[in-house]
Amino acid sequence: MPDENRTEELAIMGGTPSFEKILHVGRPNIGDSERLLERISGTLDRGWLTNNGPNVQEFERELSKLLGVEHCIATCNATVALEITIKATGLTGEVIVPSWTFIATAHALQWQGITPVFCDVDPVTHNLDPRRVEEMLTPRTTGIMGVHLWGRPCDIDALAYIARRHNIRLIFDAAHAFDCSYKGRMIGGFGDAEVFSFHATKYVNTFEGGAIATNDSELAARIRLMKNFGFEGYDEVSHIGTNGKMNEISAAMGLTSLESLEEFVNVNCRNYQQYREELDGLPGVRLLPYDETEMSNYQYVVLEIDAPATGLSRDELVQVLWAENVHARRYFYPGCHRMEPYRSYYPHAGQMLPVTEKLAERVLSLPTGMAVGGEQITTICSIIRTAVSRSYTIRRRLSEMSPLTTAATKIRTQP
Ligand SMILES: *Cc1c(COP(=O)(O)O)cnc(C)c1O
Repeated sequence: MPDENRTEELAIMGGTPSFEKILHVGRPNIGDSERLLERISGTLDRGWLTNNGPNVQEFERELSKLLGVEHCIATCNATVALEITIKATGLTGEVIVPSWTFIATAHALQWQGITPVFCDVDPVTHNLDPRRVEEMLTPRTTGIMGVHLWGRPCDIDALAYIARRHNIRLIFDAAHAFDCSYKGRMIGGFGDAEVFSFHATKYVNTFEGGAIATNDSELAARIRLMKNFGFEGYDEVSHIGTNGKMNEISAAMGLTSLESLEEFVNVNCRNYQQYREELDGLPGVRLLPYDETEMSNYQYVVLEIDAPATGLSRDELVQVLWAENVHARRYFYPGCHRMEPYRSYYPHAGQMLPVTEKLAERVLSLPTGMAVGGEQITTICSIIRTAVSRSYTIRRRLSEMSPLTTAATKIRTQP
């Protein structure tokens, strides 16, 4: 299937790269910078830079309103927020988590001496498979930590049922799922608590930041203490704690981002729909769908590559794209269980994770967000179509190239 849109040679075959500047996955969405500077200027005038300042208080109120959750506690990032939530909910022993997630999900548990028990995911949803969760329960299990991967909610009802029946905790790493819904209710109010990330690469950012959402007032009070060293009053510490506070500049960025939420989601949704149309019908290339009856932030454009049908493996396609300066990412290759320290601690974990291992070989993320425009998406899709139509030649070419000159080398050394 020759591509009519693309007459010039692919860069991997010796042509000029399609893009002069590198296209990244996860370039920040930035709202109205004038508004942001006003807020920062006001913050400097007040001289109240952190410690539950007015921006943080306002940001928390706005989050609560948007999510329909009683308590939202802003934090310095999502990893510390997860750590605090894990401790505040009293998790110990073993906690069931997916391996198919960003490494922070597992680290937040292991950091506190809790064993992350890696559980396989559903091949269609990429989220925890409740049937597998049941199999991983032991007398040491104290909780389940689901991840709403790509902003697509877990099978929350099934997980909640398991948690209730076994009297264990249920918390969610909702780092991807800000402004998304499950059965018409916003993510944030499910389980014992849910944790959002406002890292620069996420849909809404506060440079670095996160938030813990919960409807449990007692838990919220404990979390508030824990994120501020356990301080109850000026000289009174009533709980063990850490420093998980969000600062005022971050909250200013958060408030400004929230004002542009509609624009962010519209751009993401338009990008996603364009990718879907322009990749439609390509053999072996599946674009992960979003449920259009739910709220979604459309933050990730995720492809699954079925190598036998495409004629190219995911890694080969990634090399083609990198040669064009499209830095597609292999999120979340190779899975937490294949990274240290888990690889050494649990060398056989992969035996229980056939779907995760398969996804790790098949999935790639493409650039989207405010920094990516329609013309760029057309070019990216045309590169992919051309690569698939010429898979045989590209394969031969890649096998002739010295491994040192291939893009794979760069992928490995990139942060
Ligand atoms: C980004 C991310 C985190 C960590 O968020 P930070 O705010 O960077 O600490 C945790 N879990 C998942 C799934 C993420 O994508």
